[in-house]
Parts: sequence; C-alpha cells; structure tokens
Amino acid sequence: MASFGNHIGGEWVSSEAFTTNINPSDTADVVGEFARTSRADVDRAIEEAAHAFPAWSRSPVQLRHDILKRAGDELFQRREEMGRLLSREEGKTLAEGVGEATRAAQILFYFAGECLRLKGDLLPSVRPGVGVEITREPLGVIRIVTPWNFPLAIPAWKIAPALAYGNCVVFKPADLVPACAHALTEILVRAGVPKGVLNLVMGRGSEVGQAIVSHQKVDGISFTGSVATGRQIAAACVGATPMKKVQLEMGGKNPLVVLDDADLDGAVECAIQGSFYSTGQRCTASSRLIATQAIHDRFVDALTARMRALNVGDALDPSSQIGPVVSETQMRADLDYIRIGKEEGACLATGGEPLTRERAGFYLSPALFTEVQNHMRIAREEIFGPVAAVIRVRDYDEALAIANDTPFGLAAGLCTTSLKHAQHFKRNAQAGMVMVNLPTAGVDYHVPFGGRKESSCGPREQGAYAAEFYTTVKTSYVAA
Ligand code: NAP
Repeated sequence: MASFGNHIGGEWVSSEAFTTNINPSDTADVVGEFARTSRADVDRAIEEAAHAFPAWSRSPVQLRHDILKRAGDELFQRREEMGRLLSREEGKTLAEGVGEATRAAQILFYFAGECLRLKGDLLPSVRPGVGVEITREPLGVIRIVTPWNFPLAIPAWKIAPALAYGNCVVFKPADLVPACAHALTEILVRAGVPKGVLNLVMGRGSEVGQAIVSHQKVDGISFTGSVATGRQIAAACVGATPMKKVQLEMGGKNPLVVLDDADLDGAVECAIQGSFYSTGQRCTASSRLIATQAIHDRFVDALTARMRALNVGDALDPSSQIGPVVSETQMRADLDYIRIGKEEGACLATGGEPLTRERAGFYLSPALFTEVQNHMRIAREEIFGPVAAVIRVRDYDEALAIANDTPFGLAAGLCTTSLKHAQHFKRNAQAGMVMVNLPTAGVDYHVPFGGRKESSCGPREQGAYAAEFYTTVKTSYVAA
C-alpha cells in the first residue's frame, strides 16, 4: 500500500503513525496510508514557516505569480486524473470531481494575477506637510484548516491568496481527504514554492488541531468546517498569546423559496442541484425548500419524481448522478436525522434508505421530508447529507420570514418570475449570498464568498476580498 508523508521545511517526511483512507464508493478499496502528525512535527512545521517568512514576504511578486501560474497549469492539465482521485477519495461524481479540480486550477490562476494587483492608498494628512501612506503587508504564518467536502477547491482558495500576498502556510487538511491535499501540495512544491513556505501536516484535528491554533508563532487561522469546531478555534485564538487573526467559514441551513409564480421546471432543477448534488454535502446546500401554497403540491410531486429517477452509484462510474456519502459516520448521522424527522412528525415523501450496490459503499437514496415545521430539528440543524425538508407557507412574506428564521446565514435562494419579489428578497434575505432562479449551491471563484450569523465570522474568502484576511494594513505618516 502506498504511504504518504508530510511536507515540512521543504522535505517530504515520514511519520511514526499512519491512518488508512478508504474509497466511500467501495470500502474494500484503500486509497493509501497517510501520516498522522506528532506534536513535535507540528511545532517543527510552524518553526519552518516562521523561518521562511522574512524572505518569502519580501520575494518579488513576479516570482509568486510564476509559481502559482505553473501550479495552475499542472493542475489544469491533470484535471481528469485529479478529479478521479477526488471522486475516489471523497465520493463526488466524476463530473463534479473534474469540475472541482478545474476550479482549483482557475483559483490558482486568479491569485497568480492578484500578486500583481495588490494596491495601497495615498491620502493627504490633516497636518500640513505630512503625507499618509496606507499599505498592505503579509500577515505572517497562517494556519489553514480545511473540511473534507471540497478537498481541492477549499485548500486552493486559502493557500493561493496566502502565498500570493507573501505569507507562509501550515496546512492541515481534513482527515478524510489527505490524498487530494498531498497531491495539491506536491504540485505547488514542484511549481517552485521555496522551502518552509508551504508545510503540509496531516492527521486528526482533535489531536494536532489545537496545538497549531495556539502556537506563539502562528499569526492567523483560516478555518472552514463545522460551527462546533469553529467556536473552539475562535476561543483558542482569543485565548492565545499573541491573539490570532481568525477567519471562520462554517455551516448552513440554506433556504430555497419557491413562489407560486415560479417556473416549475426551473425550480425543481434548482432544488435537485442545490439539495442533492455532491450528495447534499455542501455548506450551501438547499436543505430547506420553502414553497407557497398554490405551487407546493405540484413542486413536491415533480421534485419527488425527479429524485426517484436519480442514479445513485459509484462516484467513478460516469453514469452516476449522486455518489455515496463520505463515510460511515456521516451515513449514520444522515440516518439518525431520517429517524428524527419521522419522530418529529414530518412525512418522508421519498428516499432515506441505504442502498446496496455491486461494491459495498455508503449509498443513501436522496430523502425528501414534507409537512415540515420550521421549529423541527430537521429544519434547524445542518444535516450535511442528501436530505431536504419542504416547508409549506401562505405567501411571500411568510416565506421570507421562515427563510430568515435560522441560526445560519450562508446562502438563500428564490425562484420567481416577479422582479418585485426578486428585488425585495435580495435586500431582505439574511444571508451572505443570494441566488435568484439559481441553486443555492454553486458559486463563482472570483467573487466574495461567506455568510452571516453562525455561518461565518471574519473577512470574506475568494476574489480580491481575500486580501482583507491575508494581509495586515500599515498606515505610515511621512513628513515632507
Ligand atoms: P469539522 O469536523 O469541523 O472539521 C474541519 C477541519 O477542522 C478538519 O480539518 C478537522 O480535522 C479540523 N478540526 C477538528 N477538530 C479540530 C480542533 N479541535 N482544532 C483544530 N482543528 C480541528 O468539519 P467537517 O466535517 O470536515 O466539514 C463539514 C462542515 O464544514 C460542515 O458544517 C459544512 O457546512 C462546513 N463547510 C463550510 C464551508 C463554508 O465555506 N462555509 C464550506 C465547506 C464546508 P479532522 O478532519 O482531522 O477532524
């Protein structure tokens, strides 16, 4: 079996302990064994990053541009192979896997360009003979903690801006997807990232996570994952000396409102893609479908019919439309919520059954609950699987109130042909991202990404807004 080590201080290093990683479409298929990092190795990675920082922070932007561009070129050329690896490791369908690999390459290209676009300001002082210069400097050593559901795109959209703006990185990917993290790191290293600038430390967050967060030489933490882990990290950042800058992207319970005047086929397509693609394992998944009275029954009937026709199968089989859920633990959590939904009195209209396929994997038929009340747990808690809840409402006003009645605020969608309602929804939906006649899941890579309430804390990710987190502002007063 292939063994994969960490990347620390410019070297690929082995580890005393390893964990094996399996294919969720075929549990007999072992992807590989991956380093389980010790506390000493974590400390060494942080020291190496801190040591590399002064030179890298002053490196020519042309060099940073060229490295990110070369890495993007390789990833783009190998997108089919990388997409296959992603599908094998995480369970996304092949089309989604290749799509994500392509997107990760585009992110690298985008931030290659951003290296050349960082700008400051020159302002007049209120004092005569004084000028004020506002410049952005790299933050320092950045700890990057990523989840399993976008194993290439999320690391790329954190590592690329970190490097572009002159920071050094200690990257801990989710324990379920080390193969993608290892492959991405290899590509960046081959593209010329200098020794110590990018360090990969694999292993369990519960074992190595805290050590990295509180380390004195870490300046900032960019985290994507669950609210529970995000809270722990935020508390550790505030309690550490010195305190750390923190960026948290967390969960969602995203509403998709379907109004009476919506195009029915379009609304059903938004729900299929938003709720069930990527096996519903997206922070932006449309897990609450809020339908007004006159369209409700037609919408549920059409959606149920489409769901029953979805081909759930091996992620590597091109005919599969929905892959497996990522792990046995996630499968159990999804089935628990199916049971909870029934106990709460919701009606399971379709799905929610474990499926048997040629090879043993974590297959679950996409589930739709109807007659859901917004106070039920299946309407309030993030399930993170192929499970959606339909809530019946009287009219637009009630739909908007229910859409906003959630602890989360990541994405919110509306299906309508009314310009008036579309405009009102854009202004009044309490979410970081609003989609009109589009699935809630599905975002561009060059514009800000993030939410409100429990979904996000700190500066936005992606696009030029990423500079807010990955740089620190310096104000210089200069007497003429
Ligand atoms: P998670 O359990 O919170 O883990 C996220 C990352 O944190 C993993 O690398 C994990 O390592 C690590 N970690 C766990 N405990 C830690 C600790 N005490 N200290 C430091 N690091 C620790 O989340 P997940 O299950 O991987 O991902 C699913 C969640 O991510 C969902 O809630 C989803 O909505 C959210 N998500 C949000 C966005 C967004 O942009 N808003 C995007 C994608 C996903 P291990 O894997 O080793 O435990």
